[in-house]
Amino acid sequence: MIANKTLLLLPGDGIGPEVMAQAKRVLNWLQKTNRVSFEISEDLVGGAAIDAHGVPVTEATMVRALAADAVLFGSVGGPKWDSVPFDIRPEAALLRLRKDLGVFANLRPAKVFDALVDASSLKPELVRGLDILIVRELIGGIYFGEPRGIETLPDGSKRGVNTEVYTTAEIERVGRVAFDMARKRGKKVCSVEKANVMESGLLWRQVMTALRNAEYPDVELSHMYADNCAMQLARNPKQFDVIVTGNLFGDILSDLAAMLTGSLGMLPSATLGAADEAGRRHAFYEPIHGSAPDIAGKGLANPLAQILSLALLLRYSFDMEEDAKLIEQAVERVLATAGRTADIAAPGRAQISTSEMGDALLAELERA
Ligand code: NAD
Repeated sequence: MIANKTLLLLPGDGIGPEVMAQAKRVLNWLQKTNRVSFEISEDLVGGAAIDAHGVPVTEATMVRALAADAVLFGSVGGPKWDSVPFDIRPEAALLRLRKDLGVFANLRPAKVFDALVDASSLKPELVRGLDILIVRELIGGIYFGEPRGIETLPDGSKRGVNTEVYTTAEIERVGRVAFDMARKRGKKVCSVEKANVMESGLLWRQVMTALRNAEYPDVELSHMYADNCAMQLARNPKQFDVIVTGNLFGDILSDLAAMLTGSLGMLPSATLGAADEAGRRHAFYEPIHGSAPDIAGKGLANPLAQILSLALLLRYSFDMEEDAKLIEQAVERVLATAGRTADIAAPGRAQISTSEMGDALLAELERA
């Protein structure tokens, strides 16, 4: 049993607290059945923290987040806070948390559950059984590189500049995460860049190759240009196991991969920092969807992305592969047998509420 570990829950705004409530029921079940003994605390973040404290995340919350073994986040934002100053908008909490926790490797699994094969825009045979993982570098590259800005030229026209920049150390640390993940999966990494037209891509390719040869000879490494990778994801996504790439290409390719699976309400993510000598790393888990103000408070939200984020937390922060699988398999069975929330409802089958989806999942866990 995993004991003496601390978890911080940050439900946030909109549907965040609704879907987190269902994840908490799963956490309680894990505690009750003696699988884990976590010390769990909860705090406000985003618009909820602005309302209570005037800032999207307080210093006290930051201290708790930095001390926690893992953070489970809901979602933040909504029309209520659209007019707050830019630097204290709800989303600023997310950026601050990522930055201060130093989480640089964004893991976006794209897994197709059998029961949802028809929700994909691709043909069933292309996506049935799909299970790939995109590892995106999150705090470097062109979104952060200097110089950047918009300048006015002597003739009065303007010039916009952003800079793609990666160092050896930045590439190695995200590369290690990708190779470590591949070791626990299909032992294949595809490294994606544009080495044909970008020097930063050429360095990326060289560093990945050297890292693989020095530290991961047991993992197969291939290289692909980002444009080809987009085509291959749409043509034959099952050829991949782990894809590792920089911030910009990862942003685009992970959304493409997400859509292969059909629904926003089903997709979890994990963002990891570097492991220290004791193997401990900061880690942040969240569904990829936002606060969905259009359905908030109506009991319509699909809680599965939040619950699957909890499964990733067990897998990546605590090596609890068996328990992560238990949750994922229960999700699979719920999708196949129970009614579903409106976003993934099948024609002719019952539409159920957020908490009824939680009921169905707990019933499956009890049966496991
Ligand atoms: P969104 O993901 O909140 O919603 C997009 C659409 O998907 C909506 O129609 C919504 O109802 C639906 N949807 C999303 N999650 C769902 C779920 N679990 N179950 C059923 N349907 C679901 O994106 P948006 O509408 O562009 O943004 C709304 C707010 O969320 C904005 O304030 C935005 O800034 C914020 N946002 C926050 C995060 C985050 O906290 N990480 C991410 C994205 C957007």
